[in-house]
Amino acid sequence: MNWDEFADWSRQIADWGAAYHKSLRDRPVRAQTVYGEIAAQLQDAPPETGEDMSVILEDFEQIVMPGMTHWQHPRFFAYFSANAAPPSILAEQLVNTVAAQCMLWQTSPAATEVEGVMVDWLRQALGLAEGYTGVIQDSASSATLSAVLTMRERATGFTGNREGLSTKGQLRIYCSEGVHSSIDRACWVAGIGQDNLVKLPTSGPRHAMDTAALEAAIEADLAAGHVPAGIIAITGGTGVGASDSLAPVLAIAKAHDLYTHLDAAWAGAAMICPEIREDFWAGVDGYDSIVFNPHKWMGAQFDCSIQFLRDPTAQLNTLKIEPEYLKTSGDAVVNYSEWTIPLGRRFRALKIWFLLRSYGLEALRARIRNHVAWSEALCEQLRALDGFEITSEPILSLFSFRCPGDDATQQRLVDALNDDGRIYLTQGALDGRKVIRFQVGQFDTTQEDVLGACDVIRDVWEGLE
Ligand SMILES: *Cc1c(COP(=O)(O)O)cnc(C)c1O
Repeated sequence: MNWDEFADWSRQIADWGAAYHKSLRDRPVRAQTVYGEIAAQLQDAPPETGEDMSVILEDFEQIVMPGMTHWQHPRFFAYFSANAAPPSILAEQLVNTVAAQCMLWQTSPAATEVEGVMVDWLRQALGLAEGYTGVIQDSASSATLSAVLTMRERATGFTGNREGLSTKGQLRIYCSEGVHSSIDRACWVAGIGQDNLVKLPTSGPRHAMDTAALEAAIEADLAAGHVPAGIIAITGGTGVGASDSLAPVLAIAKAHDLYTHLDAAWAGAAMICPEIREDFWAGVDGYDSIVFNPHKWMGAQFDCSIQFLRDPTAQLNTLKIEPEYLKTSGDAVVNYSEWTIPLGRRFRALKIWFLLRSYGLEALRARIRNHVAWSEALCEQLRALDGFEITSEPILSLFSFRCPGDDATQQRLVDALNDDGRIYLTQGALDGRKVIRFQVGQFDTTQEDVLGACDVIRDVWEGLE
């Protein structure tokens, strides 16, 4: 393909993209295919001779598209939304086309410098104290792993990377029961081990970590000769939105000189609203590491995860490695690949720049406030349905409910809803019971889309029997 042909196809794909997005409300949200159906339609072996792009695109439409779940569908209420606002898609098209690998400042100075400024724009937008810097990672899982590795190295006097962990004692990390599974996996692969991730009970309307239990656990570990290494707090857990009281957790961390990481992957975006920040983030300044995903509620196309760092030194001392072939001459510059586990880096900052300039913070705040209000209104409608139960009250735009019946019935309702296709929901667990989660966060969703979900749920529920 030459570049003139490339330009023609790009224009056609842009038209296709606009039509696709405008058609979303008429499509089932979750793919309605069975396992293996898509693979069976592909050729078994790669072609020996090239095919025309028109044929390839036709197959894309016929074979691939029916197997897509539509994350940009306005009635996507499952998991957490992974929004791709149009300006961020445009930025990604430019990044894809220029196709730079931005591992060092020298390998694309603009990528590094835009990244530094975007991290600071987001710091200001989220109301974090001056002095926080940070880095853009692919996912919150990677940011959390970076923080857990930093906890490990800091607790071992930065000797773990060199000597291994066999003589380092039993390292301990603390969090609540409301955290995301990425915390567990970070502890597995960092060599901490699941059994050394101490999960504390939660209580209260926000399912917050029991801080008396935290203090007791640390004291008991110290008495047993273990090595406390860090605390991971959460704002907006995946199940029911568990949110810790940040100041008391931080005070305990300081008293024991423990490194702190805050997982706000989903809810962090809502902190651009001052009233939400005051409510959820009192005491946030002082956390050593904070992660939030602009690719969720904020609208920057996946993938895009910001890790703020109060002082990057400890993470650099954990992850920085500089073999001869990566050395660059000249002035001291920031090389963000030294801050993270992967070496190669995409230019992710551009889509944040496009997004924030194109909308402005006020429009992004308005969306989040609407989503919270609509979620609360829907919650009241479901509460009023005969036999339905609200199992967790809205935390921001996330709540959970149960229909009449046992756990198996909850799953039957979720499956029937997703087979119906008008809306898409997923299940969760709370206090040992299955619950149905509902979150509002898709960028184009309207009040009608959200409140209309009540009729869909009642319809499908009545059809179950
Ligand atoms: C989505 C989410 C994660 C994982 O995010 P990835 O970027 O997919 O790794 C972690 N924690 C919370 C609270 C989340 O909502």
